[in-house]
Amino acid sequence: MKQTLDIVPLKSWIDTGDLPLVIAGPCSAETEEQVLATAHLLANTGKVNVLRAGIWKPRTRPGEFEGIGSVGLQWLRKAKEETGLPITTEVATAKHVEEALAAGVDILWIGARSTANPFTVQEIADALKGVDVPVLIKNPVNPDLSLWLGALERVNRAGIKKLGAIHRGFSSYEKTAFRNEPMWDLAIQLKTMVPDLPVINDPSHICGNRELIPYIAQKALDMDMQGLIIESHIDPSVAWTDAKQQVTPQALAEIITNLVARHAESNDPVFEDKLAGFRKDIDKLDDQIIKILSDRMKIVEKIGEYKRDNNVTILQVSRWDEIIQKRSNVAQALKLDKEFTVKMLELIHNESIRKQNEIMNTKPVAEA
Ligand code: PEP
Ligand code: MN
Repeated sequence: MKQTLDIVPLKSWIDTGDLPLVIAGPCSAETEEQVLATAHLLANTGKVNVLRAGIWKPRTRPGEFEGIGSVGLQWLRKAKEETGLPITTEVATAKHVEEALAAGVDILWIGARSTANPFTVQEIADALKGVDVPVLIKNPVNPDLSLWLGALERVNRAGIKKLGAIHRGFSSYEKTAFRNEPMWDLAIQLKTMVPDLPVINDPSHICGNRELIPYIAQKALDMDMQGLIIESHIDPSVAWTDAKQQVTPQALAEIITNLVARHAESNDPVFEDKLAGFRKDIDKLDDQIIKILSDRMKIVEKIGEYKRDNNVTILQVSRWDEIIQKRSNVAQALKLDKEFTVKMLELIHNESIRKQNEIMNTKPVAEA
């Protein structure tokens, strides 16, 4: 997938020293007291770079608290004046953009539901033309990398170069331990496609509960993500939205303190030497894997020709079940993850079927 983003590094618009960017604050601005008290406690931790609070809330059902609206912008502005913390909020319409900018909001973010809708993203992008403000774009609710990239491109084409992505996980039908499945591979793919793009992780919306936040936050740093956005409320138990996933400013400070910051590279030559050795071994094994797969496919082709010539169907379910069963037992004995093994075998199997289909549908070379 081709991408074309013209962006400037995160460090050029926010200085966090050697540490990851930390954005924290309540899910929603509820009252002036709640915003100010939370902001002061967060600022006093010395571990927060930006204050967040939702002013307009995208709710699934009507009748729920849909955000305090424009008045909350003044509370945020006051919090910024009193604490010195830059402020950020979600915008979903051109009017939100205008109002947020007029109130001095320093960073805007586009929410997951908006990212999923190109009309909405384009409306926001048009409202941003000629404005120099950092914009963070959450992944769409559905696991669609193109939509995420497309939203980044729309905003970038409007002239926004201070751009970042927020990885907040993806909605799924299956019930899992997470509110939104992290699907790390999608965030990693985005990072690989646009290496300069800062990716900030949102453990609060991934987890949906307080308990898993430290684990996801650490994993995000281990994946070389540049920052975290974590919901923090002065009294989470009475929060008007997302009560289960918010943490007190004190708990937030503890989470940040306990994180281990790792570096993408090391300056230690001994470490680099050893790493280079491991990588050489990996390269050799990868080459072997490719060669073995190629040999396997050659046999698959032979089987395909044989089945075609004898008029036998490609898919034989019992054989496939047997393969999965036997191989995953072996894999488990060799300490390979079962889910990984099954996924890998399925991939190989699908490719084998594709190959055999090709063969079935080409006529055998006519005998002389
Ligand atoms: C939020 O950050 O409060 C929010 C609504 O997030 P998302 O768009 O990720 O659901
Ligand atoms: Mn929230």
